[in-house]
Amino acid sequence: MMQRTGAGRRAEIAGAGIGGLATAAALAQRGWSVTVHERASNLRTFGAGIYIWSNGLRVLKAIGAYEQATVGAHIGPQFHTRDHNDTTMEEIPINGPDDARLITILREQLINTLVDTCRKAGVEILTGSAAVGATPEGELLLEGGERRKADLVVGADGINSSVRDSLDLLLYRKHLGYGAIRMLISRDDNDVSPEDRDRYIEYFTGSRRILYTPASASDLYVALCCAADDAEALRVPADRKLWTDSFPHLANLVARFGDAGRWDAFEVVKLKQWSKGRVAILGDAAHAMPPYLGQGGGCALMNGLALAAAVTDAPDIEAALAEWEARERPLTEHTQDTAERLGDMNFWPDDIRSEVLKITGRSAEIGAVRMKTARHIPTATEAFA
Ligand SMILES: Cc1cc2nc3c(=O)[nH]c(=O)nc-3n(C[C@H](O)[C@H](O)[C@H](O)COP(=O)(O)OP(=O)(O)OC[C@H]3O[C@@H](n4cnc5c(N)ncnc54)[C@H](O)[C@@H]3O)c2cc1C
Repeated sequence: MMQRTGAGRRAEIAGAGIGGLATAAALAQRGWSVTVHERASNLRTFGAGIYIWSNGLRVLKAIGAYEQATVGAHIGPQFHTRDHNDTTMEEIPINGPDDARLITILREQLINTLVDTCRKAGVEILTGSAAVGATPEGELLLEGGERRKADLVVGADGINSSVRDSLDLLLYRKHLGYGAIRMLISRDDNDVSPEDRDRYIEYFTGSRRILYTPASASDLYVALCCAADDAEALRVPADRKLWTDSFPHLANLVARFGDAGRWDAFEVVKLKQWSKGRVAILGDAAHAMPPYLGQGGGCALMNGLALAAAVTDAPDIEAALAEWEARERPLTEHTQDTAERLGDMNFWPDDIRSEVLKITGRSAEIGAVRMKTARHIPTATEAFA
């Protein structure tokens, strides 16, 4: 049972993304008084789906957001990778009794649910409120000059974090030379064969990939992945002829691509340390990673809840932040490093990639490394199966 022992304490959080909102909800539920500052003028997010594994689902349960977040979610029977001939390279079992759980939902649904969870817990969310930095003594500095004093400041302001950079915490930021266009379209029975319709499938050809993701009964989330210098492929609206030439077996799907879409380059961010004084950094601001494991948001959820659990009873916030980092950072870095290694195969020749993945896909050891984060029981979720 959660104890409201943070009463009388105040947190100022920069960023109303997955990380900032989950942290805010968890702190407020423990009695903290919390304000979230979101730079954008509204809390709407862009049209895409998101994969949430068992670890993230446990966090959603622990903050009371699971039921709402998973309404209408898609639960796929397997995750497949396919080679340039549409031959299956790997079949990753999910959602069986012994498997990690995996669901997909719309990003909008996740953000809306986290916002509702925050509001129910009494969190104040200010839109159009941009942070420009923070001080180790516990001040969040806002555009316009306001200084907000708190017991805890959280920089969850995404990959270009102003809070992180104002404290000189960046160790490195690595561009991986690769990225994706994400879009949301309606589902259609003719996109793939009947036995593939409900699966999650990642198709490879050359250095391009198409990720096919049902995200509800009616929504299909599509990610078109390519090298950051593949100028033709990263154009939005997507060039249907180019993508059909690379993936002729997906011609029906490509023909239905919408004109909208958002390109994001994949990057890795590592920090010298995750906190300074009373300021903690989390989510993409602290540990961005490429999305090959579908765990960037999962790590933001886990680290946000763990942060709230770490500071609530702590007599010394600075010491609690150091303990939080020591406990949570190894798994986050395992996730980042594993995801980064998975991206290496983007640039392998088709035949070699196909042969290698057919072998590694059967390796229990490699599977365990990949699934370590999904199978992890996050801090403060022990009571939630
Ligand atoms: C192609 C792609 C696919 C992905 N797929 C998955 C997936 O399937 N599953 C998964 O778990 N993860 C996935 N991820 C990763 C996931 O999206 C991120 O890890 C997650 O969104 C990070 O959340 P965040 O709250 O840290 O940052 P963000 O989502 O970036 O949120 C930061 C917020 O802070 C606001 N902000 C920025 N600057 C300021 C400022 N100065 N002051 C105030 N507010 C500010 C922003 O407007 C934003 O609302 C994917 C990433 C990519 C690129």
